[in-house]
Amino acid sequence: EVDSRRLAISASVRVIPHFPKPGIMFNDITTMLLCPGAFQAAIDLFVERYHRMNVSAVAGIEARGFIFAPSVALQIGAKFIPLGKPNRFPGEVISERYELEYGTDCLEMRVGAVQPGERVVIMDDLVATGGTLSAAILLVERAGADVIECACVIGLPKFKVSTIQGKPVFILIDPVS
Ligand code: AMP
Repeated sequence: EVDSRRLAISASVRVIPHFPKPGIMFNDITTMLLCPGAFQAAIDLFVERYHRMNVSAVAGIEARGFIFAPSVALQIGAKFIPLGKPNRFPGEVISERYELEYGTDCLEMRVGAVQPGERVVIMDDLVATGGTLSAAILLVERAGADVIECACVIGLPKFKVSTIQGKPVFILIDPVS
């Protein structure tokens, strides 16, 4: 039953106040990974949503997006595309810089990972401001693919109604506080 699965996920997420800096309520999904039922529930909810949406690729954002995207990709018969921090991938890459609260960060994707017209879902563990997903969307679409949706385990309730770069955001649970 869907709601009991979401409750199991919420119950397994640990909150670490003031990490990595003062004021941040860090939602730690690594405790969820120690609860196979909750981890399975999260993967199942994503797979149930995407297996009939003609998704050809699931892109995961380093690092914690890498925990979810490959399992979902394999179960829906799609490829997995890692979107990494700078200098993770040898050979030719395209990159997208984005603003953080202090300074900038960058995501990279291997050239040729995605073909024009492919239907891509982008996954991460959590969406806060949406800045990271926004950069990921721009990166994948610069390669000519279509981002059909973003998907996160945890997200602020506002993303259930608002979009990022015009893309819907599918969220399993609200942040735990
Ligand atoms: P944002 O770009 O602001 O949406 O931040 C999302 C990225 O930062 C994701 O990769 C998250 O893993 C990480 N992140 C931001 N805030 C938190 C938080 N409160 N708890 C855990 N991870 C977070």
